[in-house]
Amino acid sequence: MVRDATLRLLNGQATARDASGGLPFSSFCYNWVMSDPTHNSTVEQRIWTILAEIDDPEMPISIVDLGIIERVEIDGGTARIFVTPTFTGCPALQMIDEQIVRSVGAMPEVQEVEIEHIFDPPWRADRITPAGRERLRAHGVTVPDGKFVRLNLARDEAVACPFCDSRDTRLDSPFGPTRCRMIYYCTACRNSFEHIKAL
Ligand SMILES: [Zn+2]
Repeated sequence: MVRDATLRLLNGQATARDASGGLPFSSFCYNWVMSDPTHNSTVEQRIWTILAEIDDPEMPISIVDLGIIERVEIDGGTARIFVTPTFTGCPALQMIDEQIVRSVGAMPEVQEVEIEHIFDPPWRADRITPAGRERLRAHGVTVPDGKFVRLNLARDEAVACPFCDSRDTRLDSPFGPTRCRMIYYCTACRNSFEHIKAL
């Protein structure tokens, strides 16, 4: 029952959008959603929940917190996931795609999963959610401030140590375990840690 209502709602939304000349949401659909107590369990929202449980294969962070899921669209039995890769050619991308297809494809409402890689807008480190930053930090991986997105990878940057908060750190190697990460060394507590490139 819920499934039927959800699909009808989504179809109605698409129809209304076309008829009203591109308005994102018609008042009819707005009222329909607001009066339906089950609207929180739409297929799309459950897909987001499933995506939030998929971790990046190389970092302790979910792909939703990493900010690489641009949007989700439902078209009948087809779920279309728009993914913004962190780094062109990052080998983890294929593993992520396969995991998305496996997990979302296991939903009874989904017959087909389509993944589209989009590069505009590009992924940037400031797309990582605050919860994602906290989780990375707990694992010794820091993320650049969104305010200071720089391209100069060779120059040492004052990156705060995730263990002791000291800014007395230096770039140890621009080549981390993946192309997305760099190794830093903290002079204060003598720990190495990883820092995600700002792009
Ligand atoms: Zn330190």
